[in-house]
Amino acid sequence: MARFPREYNIIIKDIRSVDVLFGYCYPSTYRAGMTSLAMHLFYSVLNSREDTSCERYFRFDVPSPVRSVDSGRSLRDNHIIGFSLTYEEDIVNLIHMLDQGNIPIRAEERGTDSPLVIVGGPSVSANPEPYVDFVDVFVIGDGDLVIHEIVDIVRDSESRYAALDSLAEVEGLYVPSRQQDNVTRLVVDDLDALFHPTSQIVPDVPDGSVLEPVFGKSLLVEVARGCGHACKFCLVGHVCRPRRVRTLTRLKSIIEEGLANTPAKKVSLIASSPGDMEQLEDLVHWIVGKGLEVSVPSLRADDVTEGLLASLVKGGQRTLTIAPETGSESLRRTTGKGLRDSDIETAVQIASAAGYRAIKLYYIVGLPGETEDDIKAIAHMTKRIAEISNLRVTANVNPFIPKAHTKWQRNAQPSLEQLRKKLKIIDNELRNARKIQFEALDPRRARIQAALSLGDRSLGRVIERAAQYSGLSGWRRAEKETGVPFFAVANDSERLKGNLPWAFINL
Ligand code: SF4
Repeated sequence: MARFPREYNIIIKDIRSVDVLFGYCYPSTYRAGMTSLAMHLFYSVLNSREDTSCERYFRFDVPSPVRSVDSGRSLRDNHIIGFSLTYEEDIVNLIHMLDQGNIPIRAEERGTDSPLVIVGGPSVSANPEPYVDFVDVFVIGDGDLVIHEIVDIVRDSESRYAALDSLAEVEGLYVPSRQQDNVTRLVVDDLDALFHPTSQIVPDVPDGSVLEPVFGKSLLVEVARGCGHACKFCLVGHVCRPRRVRTLTRLKSIIEEGLANTPAKKVSLIASSPGDMEQLEDLVHWIVGKGLEVSVPSLRADDVTEGLLASLVKGGQRTLTIAPETGSESLRRTTGKGLRDSDIETAVQIASAAGYRAIKLYYIVGLPGETEDDIKAIAHMTKRIAEISNLRVTANVNPFIPKAHTKWQRNAQPSLEQLRKKLKIIDNELRNARKIQFEALDPRRARIQAALSLGDRSLGRVIERAAQYSGLSGWRRAEKETGVPFFAVANDSERLKGNLPWAFINL
């Protein structure tokens, strides 16, 4: 790979002048990691401490996954290594990074000179159990609330052993090697009072580069955390609740300070459900009025208004993303999503009239209670949207992946064969349809994700072995060689009737 490009706003400290070296790791591509607000947040928070140096590591598209992109610091030289685990399957990449960095992959084999491996993110907050073999400390919930305490403890502890003892006493931290009967999730109450990074790292790369963040070279601004809804399948709706929203005044000041410190001409608003902010339209209007580009992620169809989309078009957004989840209104009601078909059609018509060019629709198949008519309704709704608008339509269909702590946590995933049949019905209906593109997550991947979401600590052996191989076949081989049932975890409804492995996490 050619020399790594320049990045603005990186902080490189003389390691002789600090007490704690922190390696912030994203176990996937540089592009995905740089799109994560958490990375910018922890980098800023940690480097704001005089006694700490934080540098970044990525699994892919960087010169080395075990040398920081900031100064080339070896992963192993850090006192603490923090991973953000966004997708369950990235546990394999996490293991690769440790292994390549000469850090024992199993927590129990790490000695006094090994870094502490800390992992956070919504998936592990819901169910850390499948990963306990590899992790010293889990952060359950909002890590902003404990990051300083973690660093203080590691800095002041006489040994690794003593640090783990102390960390196990901190609310919101789960230390599997210590006895903890229950762990309570950390929840930030007031987003306005919370630090927000305004000096964000931007890579100096051409537009469209593989290293360009997903939203382009933009200032990431967190509008809200959690969600005001609680759809029965949704991890965020349960594990990140309640909804917390920043005020318009605070957001404007973050953006003004951010644009003074970050070389970006675009503002990317971050939230699971941005319409939860009542003044979203005012905010977008204000940003566009400053001559900036703006983007928002997926919107609920009932949050779409003419004024909001008109401003977003002026701000350069041309694709609307909404998640009907199902094609039928009755099943949608069962999920708790609470959107009517008419809400969706109205949103489409507004987008079409406002000058949008494309729409991306997210659906789920295999939901509890689903019938064949419900599945066909996905295709019908997609075709109808193509008919009533001039938009290019992408239907993205994911198999149902049951998640710990959600209302449907005790509902197993349908079998691979059933999921394939369901997807085939939609594929047949949409094949040859004009202006419509059909995308689906491979059910084999969905089954791996479901097993990791619902599993217990017995899966550690399979994960470790799968990391030695590659791809989907690696998981099959790992299951066979270890003799530990892995795939069956996704489909075993009997097991889900009993005690759940994540019951000790108090949300
Ligand atoms: S699916 Fe969307 S609206 Fe429903 S709980 Fe999740 S984030 Fe909220």
